[in-house]
Amino acid sequence: MNASRPQLTRRRFLGMASAAALMAAGPASRAPAGGGQRKIVLSFYCDDTSPYVAGAKAFETFLDYCAEHEIAGESSAILGVSGHSMSRRPSEEEQAFLQQVARAHECGIDTHMELMTHGRLFDFGATDPGKDAAHEGLWLHEPEVTVEQYERYFAGIIAEGERVGVKFTGLTWPGCGCEVCTRRYAELRAGGHNAPNPAVWQALLSLARQGRFRGHTVPCFFGSSETEYGIHRKAADGEYAVYDLMPNAKDCFGIWENNPDRVDPDYYITANGESGIVVRHVQAAAPYCIWYAHWQGLNPATGVGWSAFTTVVERIRRHLQDRVVWMRPSEITERYHAAGGWEFLEKGSRD
Ligand SMILES: [Zn+2]
Ligand SMILES: [Zn+2]
Repeated sequence: MNASRPQLTRRRFLGMASAAALMAAGPASRAPAGGGQRKIVLSFYCDDTSPYVAGAKAFETFLDYCAEHEIAGESSAILGVSGHSMSRRPSEEEQAFLQQVARAHECGIDTHMELMTHGRLFDFGATDPGKDAAHEGLWLHEPEVTVEQYERYFAGIIAEGERVGVKFTGLTWPGCGCEVCTRRYAELRAGGHNAPNPAVWQALLSLARQGRFRGHTVPCFFGSSETEYGIHRKAADGEYAVYDLMPNAKDCFGIWENNPDRVDPDYYITANGESGIVVRHVQAAAPYCIWYAHWQGLNPATGVGWSAFTTVVERIRRHLQDRVVWMRPSEITERYHAAGGWEFLEKGSRD
């Protein structure tokens, strides 16, 4: 439309340079040809989703909202968070919830396993992990665990989902601040183990190759950072790949405490559309803005952050409509992997 090339401001240049430096997994981010403004991808992760926090109806309301407003993101499903697998002899409430999880994808929402329990390793029947088994999040960092052990465990979770029509898209690391985990994480760090066991990525890649995930690529959510973020390819084999897709905006929708002091829509975008982290990422020509949230605070029934969430979505629609494109995390990794970088964004639309 506009034939004149916009002035490359220092701010924009710095934004592009830092984005390029962070996109180590693929070709560097670059400005679109022809002077048009490249759209940035918008998405979110919602952790800790289950029917026990706010009921199945709340998740249905959330999905209806996402579909109606054509937004996209992810919401985890933790099938064994109560200690039993809700795929087996589910209660009425669990059944209703699982039906919603099965329709999440068509509403624009991915489903990550936040592992099976978000707590101790689950007993899938073959081998009892025992009462003092490790917490799942920590176990992903234990250097002695093998690819086969991870693969068997992830396959067990996937099979529980398949029983009830739930196909997982990726994996979210279940964080834990318990005393045992905190102490062990410190030991691991002291021993130079600052990252998940690389066997995790290989196990996920193997399962992707077997068609056990929804797509060919598997997005993962481990750490996040407003500045040191990026999409990192962890394992790949042809069209199959595993990516760590880091959020670059935090949870200001009440966090897991459902805490009203932790709700702030202006953190994302102010009413006048002039500031907030989404606006900053757009102005810096970042490839994406992905935030994370927790079902405890976000849910439309009991969450103190729900009205802030809908406010943010509405402000984005009003002020940034032509600058952003909503995508599920697995859609982001599929397109990024297929294109070998962010070039697909220059087409300006996902259609
Ligand atoms: Zn969690
Ligand atoms: Zn723990």
